[in-house]
Amino acid sequence: MLNVKCFHCGKSFALNEDVVAAWLEEHKEERPKHYPAQCHFCRRVIKLSIEQVSRHLPARGNLDSAGEEIGQDGQGSQDEET
Ligand SMILES: [Zn+2]
Repeated sequence: MLNVKCFHCGKSFALNEDVVAAWLEEHKEERPKHYPAQCHFCRRVIKLSIEQVSRHLPARGNLDSAGEEIGQDGQGSQDEET
């Protein structure tokens, strides 16, 4: 979970990572600097830096490495020694 503190009302709430990830995916071409999170309590929008929120997300929708593949290794044969 991604916990943020609202600076309007001072309460903390958790953001849904799936929602954030979906938003980032949707807006990735705009390369936003901030994610507008709505406070669960006062309903006001607080801007969170993308860097800050993306650190908490699973590494699937990384803005800077879209389409980049991670090399796989360890698929070779295993030597068994007795
Ligand atoms: Zn609030």
